Amino acid sequence: MTPTPATTPGMKKLGQTHYIFVTGGVMSALGKGLTASALGAILQARGFSVVQQKLDPYLNIDPGTMSPFQHGEVYVTDDGCETDLDLGHYERFTGVPTSRSSNITAGQVYWDILHKERKGDYLGKTVQVVPHVTNEIKAFIGRMEGQADFSIVEIGGTVGDIESMAFIEAIRQYARETGRRRSCFMHLAFAPYLKAVGEVKTKPTQNAVRELLEAGVQADVVVVRSEVEVERSDLEKIAMFAGLPASHVVNCPDSDTIYRVPVTLHNHGLDDAILSHFDIKAKAPDMAAWQHVSSLVAHPPREVTIAVVGKYVQLGDSYISLNEALLHGGFAHDAKVNILFVDSETLESMGDDEVAAILAPADGILVPGGFGARGAEGKIRAIRYARENKVPYFGICFGMQLAAIEFARHVAGLTGASSSEFDADRGAGAHTIINLMTEWHAGDAKLKRGKDDDLGGTMRLGAYPCKLAKGTLAGKAYGSSSIAERHRHRYEFNPAYRAILEKAGLVFSGTSPTDPDLVEIIELPTKTHPSFFACQYHPEFKSRPLAPHPLFAAFAKAALAYVEEKSVRKAA
Ligand code: GLN
Repeated sequence: MTPTPATTPGMKKLGQTHYIFVTGGVMSALGKGLTASALGAILQARGFSVVQQKLDPYLNIDPGTMSPFQHGEVYVTDDGCETDLDLGHYERFTGVPTSRSSNITAGQVYWDILHKERKGDYLGKTVQVVPHVTNEIKAFIGRMEGQADFSIVEIGGTVGDIESMAFIEAIRQYARETGRRRSCFMHLAFAPYLKAVGEVKTKPTQNAVRELLEAGVQADVVVVRSEVEVERSDLEKIAMFAGLPASHVVNCPDSDTIYRVPVTLHNHGLDDAILSHFDIKAKAPDMAAWQHVSSLVAHPPREVTIAVVGKYVQLGDSYISLNEALLHGGFAHDAKVNILFVDSETLESMGDDEVAAILAPADGILVPGGFGARGAEGKIRAIRYARENKVPYFGICFGMQLAAIEFARHVAGLTGASSSEFDADRGAGAHTIINLMTEWHAGDAKLKRGKDDDLGGTMRLGAYPCKLAKGTLAGKAYGSSSIAERHRHRYEFNPAYRAILEKAGLVFSGTSPTDPDLVEIIELPTKTHPSFFACQYHPEFKSRPLAPHPLFAAFAKAALAYVEEKSVRKAA
């Protein structure tokens, strides 16, 4: 496998933190987060340390309560923040863990200011966007001072949006105060290809650069996103209108896989343009690891298909970390993982044969995190299929809870076994296998939650330690007896049922060292199933293309073995 990139921030080569502000023009969805992350990866490959931040101009306090259809996935940090999915890109590309200092929204900024105003902290002054809002934003950016050679700060939304104006003003002031030698404005724009005339048009990019200038910010480097390669002469035209050296306008045409973006950007000169702006010299980067993983996606030597049985299957972004982690699992074995999405609700009304027909192409079945009763019975059917047909199974969070319920119902004979998430007042004797846990520890603190608490912030969130049992699938996959993984859930396995399920053959291979009643991993012994495991936490948040997560690597390995076994069976 390829080497893991440097993950420790801290100043490495430069005496002070240098800031790269990433803004977007023309339209959204140009891949600002990916470009920022890929730039981070290249700078690491050139020997620098990097941290990243995302400033979001929307008013929600965090994306935790936003629907996955609205916002895509909620990414969870070690310190328990529910944040923007771009932070997932940052971690995947640079390997640097993000935290509550990595993401801020306009909602948080206003929340803090209004609380201070009520307390009288502003001493009777008028509270205004400039300087009060902008000062809060600048203080947030300043948290990264001294943390790394480079801090790459991405501003969400598009320049020109009403809500992003205070953020643009804040970065303008920050750069002015830090000095232009330590700050760089990198603006992403789009150059559409017009089929009818067979030309790439540069005008939208020219206008985007001008719009940024109207806000007081001169772009130092322009990244021109495009579907096809943009000609040098067109880039020069943009450079002329933007008042930039030609080498500071860099094309980034679409890539076949996101993991090629660092290679594409380097080949087009982005890191050279940035370093030349700062007047910094550095060794050439070794991009071999990125080349390698990109070629595994483009020309896979082996492939497997994993069925992901979930609810938000229509929208790829709602499971983005999961999709990427599955791919990484394949990378660990020089293979490509293809994903077959199965809408769990559709399985509910089907006969057994139909369920089998839908899941037959799968070399592994995964039930991801989820909330609510809708579709849950369909997921249980998929889990039962995996268990009975010895197809590798991997359950994550909800996928672990439902695997415990499936096992309780169909192996331990506990009819009606279920979760109190679906029905809060199930009453005695109803076999509530998954229950609301009301107390647990986080470090030295004792946390509590009640069934009437607000939806926001009452979950077990962030990294918690887990102790692994020797000789189990989980213990072997991690090759360690103590780990820490990130959580985001309200319900837990009900310890009152542990002994009964153990007796029926379920293995509890991971538990919390601080609250031994908290079950973190369950699995089946390999004598009854080749590979069946499920965890209460979300391992997908910590998987990286250059350092695949051990459970995803183990799952991909099991799926590859299953493919092998299928072909042997066919040949016989
Ligand atoms: N709905 C379950 C709970 O809240 C599982 C959550 C999840 O899968 N993230 O405990």
